[in-house]
Amino acid sequence: MHTTFGKTRIAPTPSGYLHIGNVLSFATTAALAGRTGAKILLRIDDMDRDRVEREYVQDIFDTLNFLEIPWHEGPRNYEEFEQEYSQVHRLPLYSAALQQLWEVGHVFACTCSRAQVLSHSKDGSYPGTCRHKGLPPDTKDACWRLRTDVNAVVHMRTLQGIEEHPFPTLMADPVIRKKDGYPAYQLSSVVDDMHYGVDLVVRGMDLRPSTLVQLYLAKLLRAGSFLDTTFHHHGLVSGADGMKLSKSAGATSVRYLREQYGTREEVWRVIRQCGNVITI
Ligand SMILES: [Zn+2]
Repeated sequence: MHTTFGKTRIAPTPSGYLHIGNVLSFATTAALAGRTGAKILLRIDDMDRDRVEREYVQDIFDTLNFLEIPWHEGPRNYEEFEQEYSQVHRLPLYSAALQQLWEVGHVFACTCSRAQVLSHSKDGSYPGTCRHKGLPPDTKDACWRLRTDVNAVVHMRTLQGIEEHPFPTLMADPVIRKKDGYPAYQLSSVVDDMHYGVDLVVRGMDLRPSTLVQLYLAKLLRAGSFLDTTFHHHGLVSGADGMKLSKSAGATSVRYLREQYGTREEVWRVIRQCGNVITI
């Protein structure tokens, strides 16, 4: 592989203990970074304010250190995270992007509850209920949704070249600002990747529809750097051992594996049985 990149990132969410799936993703990221010269940013996504716990943030540092997964930029401990790197510090950036999207008419306010959405839609996709209601942006208990064209074609740069994909219809009109006023994942992730100058994103196959939504969003924001980002979507936890571990409660957390197996080598051995880890 002759391609070189400037920066990639690992971006865990501190709403639970890290599990094997996270580690597969981090290990793949670290391996690709090593081969392409990319530096690794640790970005901890803490916009889900109700679910973030200090011990989960600490677990991220403990796990990365225990498994010797390197990172070159971002917090080294909880204090640095709080003081410099929490997404709370970047709220003005998210607000500016949301405002920009609202002003050019790509956003609408929606007051539907999850139950209401599900009652009108078998697959859980948004049925467009509030699309043409013209609710004002500051409507009480409203989220903001991106008005998407489900016939759109999305271009995605990968390690193999540029791919064309249809917009994922299950994710029509995604929420970009939650009812609590905080930005939704799709928006904060795009804004952060642009802010930090990330040009290689490595994530699980399950997040590919999210990537397509984010590329769609970035086009509306005229975010050239994000549109030029290269994406690699890797396989998920698989195999008999992976499935067996996934079924026993708690057994997929790396914290549990550390307690159970003790040494780094043993924990890596178990993780490798659960998926296709590219060796660092
Ligand atoms: Zn609605």
